[in-house]
Amino acid sequence: MSEPLAIGVDIGGTKLRVAVVDTEGRILERRRAGTPAGDAEGLIAALRTVITEVGEGRLPVGVGIAGLVTADGTVRYGPNIGVRDLPLADALHEVTGGRVVVVNDASAATFGEQRFGAGRGASDLILLTLGTGVGGGVVVGGRLLLGRGGFAGEVGHLIVAEGGRTCPCGNRGCLEAYASGTAIGDMARERLVDLTVESTLREVRDPSGPQVSTAAAEGDAFARSILEEAGRWLGVGTAALTNVLDPELLLVGGGASRATAPWLLPAARASLQSHLVGSQWREAPRIELATLGDDAGVIGAALLAAEHVQGRGTVPTGLAT
Ligand SMILES: [Zn+2]
Repeated sequence: MSEPLAIGVDIGGTKLRVAVVDTEGRILERRRAGTPAGDAEGLIAALRTVITEVGEGRLPVGVGIAGLVTADGTVRYGPNIGVRDLPLADALHEVTGGRVVVVNDASAATFGEQRFGAGRGASDLILLTLGTGVGGGVVVGGRLLLGRGGFAGEVGHLIVAEGGRTCPCGNRGCLEAYASGTAIGDMARERLVDLTVESTLREVRDPSGPQVSTAAAEGDAFARSILEEAGRWLGVGTAALTNVLDPELLLVGGGASRATAPWLLPAARASLQSHLVGSQWREAPRIELATLGDDAGVIGAALLAAEHVQGRGTVPTGLAT
């Protein structure tokens, strides 16, 4: 049996996932619980319970949480979880006694994919997660990019069309407003106002992103065109990211990635190629599906904690408690 390395925690808007991870990124044990919404004390208590259940000795704990997280592990703003200015690393250190690092959930997932998922062996990569929104993260030179305040990697809010579609963040024209599962449903509904459009989606009241993907899989040309449009915007966004960061790999994950991939990814690859600076003189990075699914966050968070404790320089100093 392999040795436990660290505990990874993934805190989403509805679910907490906790896992004990080994040196090969394998999950040895896992727990799930509901996320107590809008209740910081309840959240800490729930985390203490599940971490204690799987805790073996004083393993380092890595946490990924949906929200803006500072480098010292304070959740500045977590709208889906309903917390503000919560010093989560300090609070968990008090209840577990071990070392704790806290990062944004998509950043943790990016690190997991880079270490043991589809990005294994790639030292420079970007993950984009397509779901309700568009999240993601950046690894540069094998190191997770957190930026000055811990807020780096918000690839979904890269503005691809100034003055364009409204994004839930309050800005207009963000990539999220064109390539999230939500945006795919929205774009389909808006186009169906044109009564000359033929589609089986007319039989669906208020089609959602998954319904667009289902229709595409059943051969609906209109649904496919919506996914291709989202893919073109993804290409615009990934070209901008590639022009700045020159990664070798672009990974697409999240709940809306697999079903949309047959139409979205080819369109994204073509659009990336056509928007990339000097594209005739270079090879565009590959765009591939992520492979760890819902486990990417717990695996990445655990590895971040372990590598920080080992002083391997994969995370900035000052990140952990
Ligand atoms: Zn935005």
